Amino acid sequence: MAALILVRYGEIALKGKNRSYFEKALFNNLKSALRNFEARVIRKHGRFFVSGPAAAEDKMIDRLRKVFGVVSVSSVRTTPLEIGAIEKTALEIAADRSSPEHSFKVETRRANKQFPLTSPEINRLIGAAVLKKNPHLKVDLHDPSFRIAIEIGPEAAFIFQDRVAGPGGLPVGVTGRALLLLSGGIDSPVAGWMALKRGLSLEAIHYHSYPYTSLRSREKVIDLCRQLTASGIRLPLHLVSVTEIQREIREHCPPELGIILLRRMMLRLAEELSRNRSLQALVTGESLGQVASQTLESISVISEVTPMLILRPLLGMDKHEIVDRAAQIDTYEISIRPYEDCCTLFVPQRPATRPKLQRVLEAEAALDTAKLVTAALEAAELQIMES
Ligand code: ATP
Ligand code: MG
Repeated sequence: MAALILVRYGEIALKGKNRSYFEKALFNNLKSALRNFEARVIRKHGRFFVSGPAAAEDKMIDRLRKVFGVVSVSSVRTTPLEIGAIEKTALEIAADRSSPEHSFKVETRRANKQFPLTSPEINRLIGAAVLKKNPHLKVDLHDPSFRIAIEIGPEAAFIFQDRVAGPGGLPVGVTGRALLLLSGGIDSPVAGWMALKRGLSLEAIHYHSYPYTSLRSREKVIDLCRQLTASGIRLPLHLVSVTEIQREIREHCPPELGIILLRRMMLRLAEELSRNRSLQALVTGESLGQVASQTLESISVISEVTPMLILRPLLGMDKHEIVDRAAQIDTYEISIRPYEDCCTLFVPQRPATRPKLQRVLEAEAALDTAKLVTAALEAAELQIMES
């Protein structure tokens, strides 16, 4: 038997004129998420239905529940619009579930008002039938051990048990294109996930200092990036060496400004790459107050270097919330692998926490920034990540 999966979406249904645009994007993203399965996706009555091989059902659900824009998914059975057929399927579900369980609840939603029975009537009828066949069960409306959910649609009824929550948000691609500054840390992958959730399609840039940073730390970033593609999207990853830039900074600039100057170079590189790739904004994992470079003064002096919009989705989050999210999206375990980041190399004893722009500009005058940017981007590597 083929599996049938009901995919519910939320926010996008509310967006008036944009609705069909968003639905189309979600449809494409669902298809892309399922590209390795022999699955069909159709849209009907404000939902999507996915059919595919029963043996792949769990794997398809696992994929679908990660697609941005999806509110929840359920494995459903369909029946004709007859109470007898609905009852038969409900009894099959109860037979599967009733042995370890002891209570249940029937929940009906009647979208099709032509159906001759009301929702409470259906609940009572089906509940009574289940009780009769399974006398050890009882009805528990507040905390049932399993549910039988019934939806009376226009052409068929759908019967299911669980709703697996999706991430919600908007389909990737509908709000624009941005460049994620992806380090190997805990924060930036979460920032990327949050940007994707708001409908941005992303490319990522990672700065490394090979051979001072190891190939392991490069692998780590590649793994993080791949994890961000778990919903089926593609994510181009640009790997850019800043070894030469760091060398120049160390040679010509005051050590306490090293981090700030490196960060400004990172933004210059990001801006130039964005121009080449038609990306409209930058996304970082910056927060406030976590580290020396994240005082308001530092962030201002660093971002002064570019006119580009910089999105910082983590600004409102506490560290533990970021860590929880990282665990949930399966980036945490990768992020805590102990490999060094380019910024942790050459860290001065006492980095400036309240840098003055004037001093930074003077120090920077010792660098040929345009030449450094061009050279670093010419040597950049591009990997297309997908999963
Ligand atoms: P993360 O956990 O993402 O590394 P963090 O808390 O360590 O962040 P910082 O080291 O101050 O904070 O970095 C701030 C942001 O700058 C990062 O979230 C990331 O967006 C960007 N960034 C830092 N290092 C790199 C790097 N090597 N490559 C690309 N982006 C970087
Ligand atoms: Mg970091």
